[in-house]
Amino acid sequence: AQLHYRVGSAFSAMRGHSSVVRAVDGVTFEIQKGESVGLLGESGCGKTSMGRLLLKLEEATGGEIHFAGVALSGLKGPALKRYRAKAQLIFQNPFEAVNPRFTIRATLAEPLENAGIPAAEREGRIIEALELVRLPQPQQYLDRYPHQLSGGQLQRVVMARALILQPDFVVADEPVSMLDVSVRAGVLNVFRDVRDRLNLTAIYISHDLALVRYVCERTIVMYLGRIMEDGPTEDIVHEPLHPYTKALVAAVPVPHPDQSHDPLPIGRGAPDPRNPPSGCVFRDRCPLAFNRCATEAPALRSAGSRRVACHLF
Ligand code: SF4
Repeated sequence: AQLHYRVGSAFSAMRGHSSVVRAVDGVTFEIQKGESVGLLGESGCGKTSMGRLLLKLEEATGGEIHFAGVALSGLKGPALKRYRAKAQLIFQNPFEAVNPRFTIRATLAEPLENAGIPAAEREGRIIEALELVRLPQPQQYLDRYPHQLSGGQLQRVVMARALILQPDFVVADEPVSMLDVSVRAGVLNVFRDVRDRLNLTAIYISHDLALVRYVCERTIVMYLGRIMEDGPTEDIVHEPLHPYTKALVAAVPVPHPDQSHDPLPIGRGAPDPRNPPSGCVFRDRCPLAFNRCATEAPALRSAGSRRVACHLF
């Protein structure tokens, strides 16, 4: 398979009044073309920052990120514009992702206009994009405003806008978390269907392992800006290796009345990222921590089909 992304020791750090917060801390991974990768973790684990680094919406403060062999740090002017068309973001909240004063036609025409698509071609491309996300009779939406659509319909419009320039790579940042539970499956099915039809490389950001499992063949588990575990999603679900992944798996609700699940057996909330623990950043919540964990940060090592950052592996 063709290599799409190579991320080498990427850092994203912000300097506060008295400290530095490393939202992404030395992260290394590769993504093949057409691969779907879930970035999984609690809030503040760095998954959204990682997605923004891949889209070059934020600059890495260290390390390097390459897309199809080209360093993102060197992209400027027309090359950056071309990259922006190839790499798109699907936002978490569809109502914040669009201008409420724009009709759906204007919302979808904007990226076409910015990309220099002639006006005569735009209406046809808009209709095609709305059909792609399975909005029936797309013409009926063109003159409506966002508030006249349901959350599920508007998230499909947001998806259509991300896809209208035929990107190679899409980051979906918790795209159904703001939607009613009853419409989530429909939106996720559209996302999976479009991804497969267009052979998109996709990053799906979520705190919900069940959603990541539904969408992604591979999962990267993040905690305090570091990768804890990386591997095939089904292997991770059936036999999690890292103690943090084990806790996330144990917390997934079981759809059976006779079986119970642990809420999050390690307690909620990661420590303050401005002041992470020494050694292994997970150690103050880890039920298996031992002396070495306080003094030495575990490297991310290969373990069969996976990579795991824990001294036990
Ligand atoms: Fe737990 Fe130690 Fe492994 Fe960290 S390195 S996950 S503290 S056992």
